[in-house]
Formats: sequence, structure tokens, C-alpha cells
Amino acid sequence: MKRIAVLGSTGSIGTQTLDVVRSSPDLFTVTAIACGSRIELFEEQIREFLPEMAAVYDEAAAAVLAERVKDLPVRVLSGMDGLIEVCGASPSDIVVTAIVGMIGIRPTIAAIEAGKDIALANKETCVTAGHLIMPLAKEKGVNILPVDSEHSAIFQALMGRHGSKIAKILLTASGGPFRHASPEELRNVTVAQALAHPTWNMGAKITIDSATMVNKGLEVIEACRLFDVTPDQVQVVLQPQSIIHSAVQYEDGSVIAQLGPSDMRIPIQFALTWPDHLPSPAEPLDFTKLSGIEIGVPRNDVFRGLPLAYEAIRAGGLMTTVYNAANEWANAAFRQGRIGFLDIYEVIEDAMNTADVIPHPSVEEILDVQGAINRRCEVKYG
Ligand code: NAD
Ligand code: MG
Repeated sequence: MKRIAVLGSTGSIGTQTLDVVRSSPDLFTVTAIACGSRIELFEEQIREFLPEMAAVYDEAAAAVLAERVKDLPVRVLSGMDGLIEVCGASPSDIVVTAIVGMIGIRPTIAAIEAGKDIALANKETCVTAGHLIMPLAKEKGVNILPVDSEHSAIFQALMGRHGSKIAKILLTASGGPFRHASPEELRNVTVAQALAHPTWNMGAKITIDSATMVNKGLEVIEACRLFDVTPDQVQVVLQPQSIIHSAVQYEDGSVIAQLGPSDMRIPIQFALTWPDHLPSPAEPLDFTKLSGIEIGVPRNDVFRGLPLAYEAIRAGGLMTTVYNAANEWANAAFRQGRIGFLDIYEVIEDAMNTADVIPHPSVEEILDVQGAINRRCEVKYG
């Protein structure tokens, strides 16, 4: 029995994680869960999975929940301390970090400090604090198992090949809903259009990031952090059907790829069952029904989210935090109708142009810069 804590259990990755648990009750048990503020689904999850701990970030919502579940033997926690306790102090073997944004940094570090493996979905934590998390995980003997489909694919393509050198990583991208759009069309894109992703059904923030290609930018940085490669070794390849989930090209020219349906339950489950592939609730690919696998090159002149990420990782240090924090602000502002689609790039570029780069930022420095960027953006664009 693997004991699982899920940070962000009510979201897209969180609910799919619980789906994986539901389909293999003999393999997994859920010991702790956490969410932001919406407690209806959360209460149902508590009643179904009977975790020992449940944390709600929002204090008022946590109080309401505590009252509602007082018939159950669950400890209800709240605030950042509650998230940290779910990750660090719960009786769990692995923490699925299915929370969105840099709020995941402290809980993830707490889990690693406590020696728990990490099934890492929360890419913003890897992008901003990867230089702290990866060495800490090594020191504590903790496995960081990628959940992001591309990184799961790369991780699989690297398995068992210790003597071989990577020539490059081929990181695939669907290109999002606006793959063929002109800059003029992009200027007037609505939130509803940007939320209609062609191949993946995901949370709102990452869906907008996919439309801007910032998601792929974050994933380039994530790949450099997870697999210790240089940005020059990561090539983004468009694969609109999302069937090839990424690949590794070795020095002899061999390309090892991982393919499958666009169903996140496969990489989520693999992070939980690694190194084994076990029966999953996902529908397998039917190769008799595939009509071709299209490949293309990203349009970096239009979708500037990607080249800006290369600039950020090359600059290093605090710059990946600047890139990510500015995007977190801009992504939310776009969803609230406060800025336009293309303004997202302006916000990121402006933050990067005015940032001071600290080479090896601490958690405090990372979070301080996020606060400073949020305040500056509110004044400048709010
Ligand atoms: P989502 O918005 O659907 O869910 C986010 C979850 O985090 C919810 O459970 C929410 O309650 C919780 N949360 C938000 N703020 C919180 C707070 N302050 N305290 C505690 N909990 C909080 O997001 P998602 O699409 O599931 O994405 C989660 C992470 O996984 C992101 O980092 C995303 O980039 C990554 N990811 C998602 C997918 C996908 O298919 N959805 C694929 C790859 C990577
Ligand atoms: Mg991905």
C-alpha cells in the first residue's frame, strides 16, 4: 500500500490522482489532502477517502469544513501551516503536488525535508525553486517523479540508459488553440477562446499558459532543472495531436519517445507506481484509428512566451522566478478581463527588463521578488 498525500486534491490533476487511487484500491491509500477554498467537492473527497488530515488554505472555509466533518476522525487544518503539515507531517510515502503556482514552494520543501517522494505536477515550484529542491532531494534521498506528461515521457526515455549521453531533449507542444492565428487575431482573443484547449482538459491557469506557449517555456526550464541539461539541449517540437509526449535523442542519433493518449492519469499513475507500468483507468491508443502524426516548428516571433523562457533560464538565478511570477500575475489578470492576451508577454518582458538577477536566490528572496512583481504590476497595469 502506498500512502499518498495530495496537495490540491480538488483540481484537474488532484481529481485525476484520486481517480487513479479509486481504480487501484489495493495499491494506494490517501492519507492527507489539501485544497484552496472550495470545500464542497473537498468534503465529498474526505467522506470517500477518509484521510487522516485535510487542510484548506482559506481559514474561514476551513472552519466551515471542520464543523461539517466533525462526525469523522479527520484533523482539519488551515493556512500555509496546514499545507506544510499535510506535506511534511502526514503519514504518507509520496506527495502529489497538484497545487497551482508558487504557493507550492514551502509545502514541497517541507515534504522533501520529511523524506517523502514527490510526484511533481506543480511546475511553478520547480521553475522558481528547482535549484534548491533538486539538491535537497538528493541530500534527503527523495525521488522527484515528474507528473507533467512531457517530463514523464522524458523520464521514461532516460530510464536504464546510464551509460548514454543525451544529445538533446525533444519537448513536444500541442501549440494550443491559436497555433495558426495571426498577431492581429491574437490581440482580440477572448478568455473563453483561450480556455478551449484542443487536446487537453486542464485547470484554467495552465490552459491559458498553453495558449500563450508560456506553459512550454515553463516546461523548458522544468526540463533543465529535472534532467540537468542546458537550454541548448532542449528543442521544442510542435505535435498538435499530443500523442508523442516527448523524446530523448541520444548521441548516436537514436530517438526514444513515449507515446500514448492525452490522459493525465497515465503520467500521474506512473509517478506513483514507478518503475512499474501497471493497469490504468485510461483508454489506450488505438493505432488503427490514428490518421498521422503531425510535426511542426513553434512560431517564436508570435508566441514570445517561449523565447522569453529561454532568456530567463540562460540568465539563471532569480530570472526564472521573475518570468514565472510576472506570468502568474498576467495570467490571472487576463482571466479577470483586466489585460489583453498579448499584454501577457509585455508584462513578462517588462518584469525581466527591470529585474536584478541574484545568482542563487533563497526561498525568502524568491517569495519577496514575487511580492514586488505583484505590487509593481498592480500599479502599472491594474
Ligand atoms: P487546478 O486549478 O485545476 O487545481 C489547482 C488545485 O490547487 C485545486 O485543488 C485548488 O484548490 C488548489 N489550490 C489553489 N490554490 C491553493 C492554495 N492557496 N492552497 C491550497 N490549495 C490551493 O490546476 P491543475 O490544472 O490541476 O494544475 C495543477 C498543477 O499541475 C499546475 O502547476 C499545473 O501547471 C500542473 N500541470 C497540470 C496539468 C493538467 O493537465 N491539469 C498537466 C501538467 C501539469
Ligand atoms: Mg505538460
